[in-house]
Amino acid sequence: MQMIEEAGAAVAEAPVHAITLLPSGKTFSSPAGESVLDAALRQGILLPHQCKTGTCGACRARVVDGEAACLPGAQPAALSPEEAGQGVHLLCCTQAASDLRIECAEIPHIPGIAVRKLPVRVVAMERLAPDVMRVQLQPPPGQQRLHYAAGQYVDVLLPGNRRRSYSLATTAREGQDLLELHIRHLPGGLFTDQVFGKLKARDVLRIEGPFGTFGMHDDASQAPAILLASGTGFAPVKALVEQLLATGSGRRVHLYWGGRARQDLYLHSLCLEWAHALQGRLTYVPVLSDAPEADAWAGRTGWVHQAVLQDHADLSQHEVYACGAPAMVDAARRDFATLAGMRPTAFFADAFVAQPG
Ligand SMILES: Cc1cc2nc3c(=O)[nH]c(=O)nc-3n(C[C@H](O)[C@H](O)[C@H](O)COP(=O)(O)OP(=O)(O)OC[C@H]3O[C@@H](n4cnc5c(N)ncnc54)[C@H](O)[C@@H]3O)c2cc1C
Repeated sequence: MQMIEEAGAAVAEAPVHAITLLPSGKTFSSPAGESVLDAALRQGILLPHQCKTGTCGACRARVVDGEAACLPGAQPAALSPEEAGQGVHLLCCTQAASDLRIECAEIPHIPGIAVRKLPVRVVAMERLAPDVMRVQLQPPPGQQRLHYAAGQYVDVLLPGNRRRSYSLATTAREGQDLLELHIRHLPGGLFTDQVFGKLKARDVLRIEGPFGTFGMHDDASQAPAILLASGTGFAPVKALVEQLLATGSGRRVHLYWGGRARQDLYLHSLCLEWAHALQGRLTYVPVLSDAPEADAWAGRTGWVHQAVLQDHADLSQHEVYACGAPAMVDAARRDFATLAGMRPTAFFADAFVAQPG
């Protein structure tokens, strides 16, 4: 039996099962009632995952031996009935009901990166647009800073076991312990109403992370990259570009950022600075879908993923990193593969899907 702490709430006792990953043979323990993914991450084993809500499908794995079951209330929407019939599970929605052997890709361990829960103090809040807030967070004195990779996110832990995910918008650097989030207001939203109403400097939040394996493929490849963002999907893209700048990578990058109106491109001038500083290596294409006349917008218009297709008829040699609205991410995944020959394995996504509760 093992005590499980979930979001700082009540503790429960549960039978614990042994999980063996294939082909590596690595093992960890997984209590009933906790997702196999969360159990692995808690024990420092990084398995592919992204949204942790059953929507993106990044944590697909096949159970080859043993009994696995869906967690109560979980919705593995990304799993087809055919996959389920072949023993495939989404590990974010799955609990162990016996010892399991699981066929699963593994992400190499990055030294220093481990999922933690920690309190953080709000040190600054800045409106980057009428509906976008930059929130800077810092662990209180004495707490170790959070180590993470560009493209990862944290969960803000809320009362009643609820949580909301936000991408980290800066790259982690030595001597810099500020965490930067870009939060878009969804009026009526549980957490973003608080951010735009009550939250203020010096308040303390509890977060857990880092999560997600989006962006971790970057170092391995020199393929030209399309960075595709809609709205606050710019946050993880900003971290990826900062990482490229910090490593001096020679990789060619095409950054496309879409919004409805000019105010949605809330760090437009920063992107222009990057394009100027990295001439020949980074191009920046802002795209507006619904700019009012008052914007006097003379740039590209339409859907941002269609602008990519207009400029790149052949994406067979590219890698694509798409972040933001799930509809944009889905359209890009579909259209880039069918219309421009993108390899499905070269598409990495961070879709900002709604969280349960
Ligand atoms: C991996 C990941 C990273 C994310 N990173 C960011 C980020 O960097 N910046 C950011 O602003 N958001 C991000 N999100 C979305 C964020 O987690 C919340 O879903 C969002 O802020 C709404 O929270 P809320 O509590 O205010 O609204 P809720 O109370 O959850 O929802 C209010 C209403 O809005 C709908 N809704 C919720 N989320 C969305 C959405 N994303 N798009 C459209 N409708 C929605 C709900 O269905 C509901 O009807 C991310 C999501 C994921 C999964």
